[in-house]
Amino acid sequence: MQAQDTSRDRPSPDLTTQLIHHPYHPPKDFAAPQPGVFKASTVFFPSVAAMRSREWKRKTGYTYGLHGTPTSYLLEERLATLEGGLQTLLVPSGLSAIALVGLSLLGQGDEVLLPDNVYGPSKALAEGELRAWGISHQFYDPMDPQDLARRITDRTRLVWLEAAGSVTLEFPDLPALLSVCRTASQVTVALDNTWGAGLAFNAFDIAPGLGVDLTAHALTKYPSGGGDVLMGSVITRDEALHLRLKNTHMRLGLGVGMNDVEAVLRSLPSIALRYAAHDRAARHLARWCLDRPEFSQVLHPALEDSPGHAHWKTLCLGGTHSSGPDQDLPGNAAGLFSVIVDARYTSAQVDAFCDALRLFKLGYSWGGPVSLVVPYELATMRERWPAQLKPGTLVRFSIGLEAVEDLQSDLAQALRHLS
Ligand SMILES: *Cc1c(COP(=O)(O)O)cnc(C)c1O
Repeated sequence: MQAQDTSRDRPSPDLTTQLIHHPYHPPKDFAAPQPGVFKASTVFFPSVAAMRSREWKRKTGYTYGLHGTPTSYLLEERLATLEGGLQTLLVPSGLSAIALVGLSLLGQGDEVLLPDNVYGPSKALAEGELRAWGISHQFYDPMDPQDLARRITDRTRLVWLEAAGSVTLEFPDLPALLSVCRTASQVTVALDNTWGAGLAFNAFDIAPGLGVDLTAHALTKYPSGGGDVLMGSVITRDEALHLRLKNTHMRLGLGVGMNDVEAVLRSLPSIALRYAAHDRAARHLARWCLDRPEFSQVLHPALEDSPGHAHWKTLCLGGTHSSGPDQDLPGNAAGLFSVIVDARYTSAQVDAFCDALRLFKLGYSWGGPVSLVVPYELATMRERWPAQLKPGTLVRFSIGLEAVEDLQSDLAQALRHLS
């Protein structure tokens, strides 16, 4: 039998070169539920002319791994759809999304306004790097639009919004805060959309004619859903704003790994189902905590007495994507709630309660299958103790996907370690 002659296709008789410049191409048109994973630093061009002319800003082709591959382009488009925007930038974490926005839009002499209940490291960035670069900041009371109005000056370039607030979960009057921002034309309005995840409300359509300019989203949370990926996004609707952010993104050399992008692409189809499941369980447990005498307050925007409940209802009832987890649980909310453990308990007793939990693990972040608990020293995190909160020790729970009865029993047994 004669060996098939493929020498024609061989670039060299040397095996090493043959393996690097192999002539085989698999058939095109492979179709399957998940897209392929394209990884690259180097991207090839067919000619010098193509190399010189190829455009990296508008996703019309490929230039370099940092500027994207088919895999990251897909995730960008799907996330823009999720959040109701048009363009997406991917960054290595939720925090780097926040940093990218500040670094793009602020310069010496400018001021940024942050809600006092903003994600903590965002405050640290303002107090550290931004201040050192001559960018000032103020913290405003998120529950008082007039307080925000008083702080806006012609130096204000960026206002951050967050709903619900980190850790304390107050739900602000977003339409009112946005209206205040719109009185100053030089202000860009950014929302940390991690809690809503694009599911609880549409940030770009908060009220008729009223929406934010951009969202930052910790994809680390619900879009990943696994507790094993760190990633963030910045989403816009305005092309000019997007290009401004994209230029900074490029110059800072921000990029993400395509295996991580693949993980998020794989989780995205189930995000609405997971969000609803976390929501249903969190509301069940938050209501159960309401009846416990050890807790003086339960903070969850869907609870009637929780700060900003009426604002949550206006924005998140009916939702933009679905009717919520259940007919008897209208609206949409993330699977997070906090309790204020009554001031008669010492912080050592609260620590003992947290240590006694078995299914709830001690750990930061949220959005994965495992329920988590963190006791916070709120007094050190805020300008002043929020007027809407009772005194005591704050403990935040993020509810995973375990059976809700098991989580409830775990809370009950751990509470015996409190007294
Ligand atoms: C977790 C979180 C972030 C930061 O996300 P990382 O990916 O952990 O950096 C930002 N904002 C909010 C509201 C978050 O919960």
